[in-house]
Amino acid sequence: MFSEAATHFTAWLDRQVTVAGRGDGMDRLGVAPASTFWMGRLATEQEVMSSGLGQRAERLEPCAIGLRVRPTGAAPWHFEVRIQARAWTYEDPKTSSNPNRPWVRSPGIDVPVSVNIDPALPPSPFGGNALGAAFARVGATGLNAEVRVDIESWNGAPELVVQLVNSSPAQHAQLEDTHLYETAMQITGLSTVPFELEALPDSFRYDRDVPAYGVNVGVALLPGGGFRTTDTVEVTTRRPEYWTSDRPEPDLTFATLSRDPLPPLEALVQALGDYHSDRWGPLLDEHPEWDQPMRDEAAEARLTAGREIGRLQRGLQLLISDTTVRRAFQLMNDAIAHSAAGKYDSWRPFQVGFLLGALAFLVDEEEADIVDTVWFATGGGKTETYLGLLVTAALHDRMTGKTSGVTAWSRFPLRLLSLQQTQRFADALAGAELVRRRERIKGAPISLGFLVGSSSTPNRIVKTARPETADLDPDSPGMPDRFQVLMRCPFCRGNEVGMHFDRLMWRLTHQCANPDCPWPEPALPVYVVDSELYRYLPTVVLGTLDKAASVGMQAAMRGLVGPPIALCTEAMHGYTYTPRSATPTGCLVPDCSAGTRPLPMPADRYAPTLRLQDELHLLRDSLGAVDSHYESLLDHLQDELGSRRAKIVASSATLTGHDHQVDVLYRRSGRVFPTQGPVAGGSFWTRPGPMPLRRFVAVAPRGVTLDHVSDRTLDVLQIAIRRLAQDPGTVCAEAGVDPKHADRLLSYYGTDVIYGSTLYDVEAATRSLTSNTSSQGLQAVQLTGGTDFDEVRAILERLENPEADFDDRIHIVAASSMLSHGVDVARLNVMVMLGLPLSTAEFIQTTARVGRTFPGLVYVLHKIGRERDAAIFRQFGQYVTHGDRFVEAVPITRRSRRVLRLTMPGIVEARRLALMEPASRGRLTTISAVRRYFDDAGIGAADQTAAIAALLGFDGPVDDTLREEIGRWLDNWFTNLNDPAGSRTWPNELGASSPMTSLRDVEVSVPIHD
Ligand SMILES: [Zn+2]
Ligand SMILES: [Zn+2]
Repeated sequence: MFSEAATHFTAWLDRQVTVAGRGDGMDRLGVAPASTFWMGRLATEQEVMSSGLGQRAERLEPCAIGLRVRPTGAAPWHFEVRIQARAWTYEDPKTSSNPNRPWVRSPGIDVPVSVNIDPALPPSPFGGNALGAAFARVGATGLNAEVRVDIESWNGAPELVVQLVNSSPAQHAQLEDTHLYETAMQITGLSTVPFELEALPDSFRYDRDVPAYGVNVGVALLPGGGFRTTDTVEVTTRRPEYWTSDRPEPDLTFATLSRDPLPPLEALVQALGDYHSDRWGPLLDEHPEWDQPMRDEAAEARLTAGREIGRLQRGLQLLISDTTVRRAFQLMNDAIAHSAAGKYDSWRPFQVGFLLGALAFLVDEEEADIVDTVWFATGGGKTETYLGLLVTAALHDRMTGKTSGVTAWSRFPLRLLSLQQTQRFADALAGAELVRRRERIKGAPISLGFLVGSSSTPNRIVKTARPETADLDPDSPGMPDRFQVLMRCPFCRGNEVGMHFDRLMWRLTHQCANPDCPWPEPALPVYVVDSELYRYLPTVVLGTLDKAASVGMQAAMRGLVGPPIALCTEAMHGYTYTPRSATPTGCLVPDCSAGTRPLPMPADRYAPTLRLQDELHLLRDSLGAVDSHYESLLDHLQDELGSRRAKIVASSATLTGHDHQVDVLYRRSGRVFPTQGPVAGGSFWTRPGPMPLRRFVAVAPRGVTLDHVSDRTLDVLQIAIRRLAQDPGTVCAEAGVDPKHADRLLSYYGTDVIYGSTLYDVEAATRSLTSNTSSQGLQAVQLTGGTDFDEVRAILERLENPEADFDDRIHIVAASSMLSHGVDVARLNVMVMLGLPLSTAEFIQTTARVGRTFPGLVYVLHKIGRERDAAIFRQFGQYVTHGDRFVEAVPITRRSRRVLRLTMPGIVEARRLALMEPASRGRLTTISAVRRYFDDAGIGAADQTAAIAALLGFDGPVDDTLREEIGRWLDNWFTNLNDPAGSRTWPNELGASSPMTSLRDVEVSVPIHD
């Protein structure tokens, strides 16, 4: 099986790196070993002491490795320590037998040291003489080492820190280099008790036992008892399984759920119920040792899991009793089958579980008061799950009379959308549209629109662009090709998609040239220009979060929170909005002079049914605070325009602080799916299976720079993969795999990702690598926030469909956090991480990019001089396996005066554009018009203050200062409004500042306090 071959191969790759990092297997070197090796080496104690850098020097280049253990019982203690090490000696090139490679690796020493600890005696070092003699025997006279044992006490329980220390002199007349190399230590014959992991709170789900801690090293357990030091800390996670019940797995294929969904869904809910009674029921009785807080926690968790069953039962009942919901659900399965295109043919149980649990919002307005968050720490399938819900909602909307307008506004928190994510949305919606046509369901085609920053897609296209503006015209450079967002046709999957500008309909279109394409019209139902979005109101709007700011700048954004004004009588011109001088009839097509006709659908159905938020955990700090105000603004506008509240569905990689975050952002309560099971990592929905998912290797570089280690690691990986290309027989024999797998291994492990949290790190790594690599013709690319849209597309295309010849392929992808979101390439399986990312969520997300299908290999190079990296290195195993528990709570508040000053202009403007102007039945584009309207309607600062405070939820006794801030801001605004000699021209200039043009107009990750 290929997965097994891949497992062996990643182990082999890792061995190549370890060998290069430590020096085993070599005999001579041309360069100094101290400037080459980064594992296993020890500096002299003298050198570290004299550096003046204290603990930091000790971490950057330690003079000791050790093990911290807790002995059973009291002193005295007796145990055996075994020390292994080597030296590198230098031959004078004049007399050397190999003057180009004068450094010589010594034979290894392997010295048993008996340790006797009696606290009555002064602690003295052990084994010094034997170690010194052993070094002399291998030709390194002058090197010295000793075993030291410190006795520490914690809460009265003794702890022993057993260390191997390089006690050689820093300088020695006969020795060029007094470092020790390939050092290792083991302890046997000592009975110990485990530590309890300090970093995490106690919880009934987790085993917090840690048998021993390493000092500058990892720890391995010896088979017969005892401990051994390891140079890296290696942790392998397991690929999740999605059916955990003893019952037969129900048939959740798209085909069956389309044809006859109830029997398998009933079986699924039944199995969930059984799991609850079998596993949760007796849990407390099975653990009499748990203390009361733990029992309370477990009892509460059991209740939460029980509520999840209730929700699924309700969803099932709804499918039984409501034929429209059932039909939408069935047809959704046909649509998803189209988008899966045979790559997979069924749902995972938890995906169906989420859908069942969330369905009720289609018929129950109160469900909109709850945010349903799908938590995907364990496996993929998030986007498909979203799409299942979204397509069900779109079809349900069509079947219940919402023949047009936006069903869902789906927001991603980054500046750029992932093209792969985009394509999957397009594919699923094309499936839904084909189903709609087949079933003759009334309404506009089910369509997709992009609402992203103007660097990716245009805001509008004008007749003739003036050079000083950012506007585009049909002949602007790059038009129309540069705005292609689909990699292939979502209807026929062909890659004959091209861009056209249709002057007659004034549309920038994607067109498919395949004559056999099932889509019958020239233009695909995909909109990439903002103004086209407003004209056609596509069924699903896919966008970046920052674009919500447009609601404070653009009258036509009203179509995303409520009804447009009317429909243009000209065919294909679409919806109209408040007239402007450039659009006198309200039609957004340039120079249109046609009339308007009434809306074709009840006005209260236009607002989105759903708002989706991807990567909820990224909405934190300033961005989260600003967004919280805009979310409230969207709710407010939707409500004022007479529509139902939108249901919010989110995804998050983390659960820490979820309910608080949702409350701050959306003023709704939160609900997470799936609920956690009774054991860590295991629930009804998922559990770790036998196959490896990712092999994590934590590296604490010693004595050399991080750049050197990343260069060398990537170099070794590339040399190894090139050996596989040139000599598959030998390499496969070494790795223990069948040579028939060589080509696939070359493809799946031939591209390495180098990941840096900052652009600076990524660029430095790319430069350093390209100048230090020994591989010829290395092809390196960058994927960062600054990479052009079409370049990203080209890179992804090359990664997904690699060139036939290995030499032509991409070998290195240097990436920043841009990679962490929605890039899903099965060929990315090896990653080198430059230091730990600042947040655990980023660590989880980023490393999830490798090993999507086959085992991944992740090197985490710790910036070991940093306290946090050093702390995590010490407990790396737990950090990886308990990852989600290390996730920091999201810092977020909406109660900030500073944020209010940023969001007030947009809130005031959005209310003017979307509510007041249409209500005035005229234009409120000048200050005098606004003044007149406010006078006539009796609008003043006090009532505006009250309205805005209410919409933001600043209505409690603690919110006085915030209400005062709003009042002050508006007083100034009204003063400017009523100033007859005012120098301002436009209403959006009346405030202290202008509306935000992007929710990112604020430094990201600056903590907000007020
Ligand atoms: Zn096509
Ligand atoms: Zn028109």
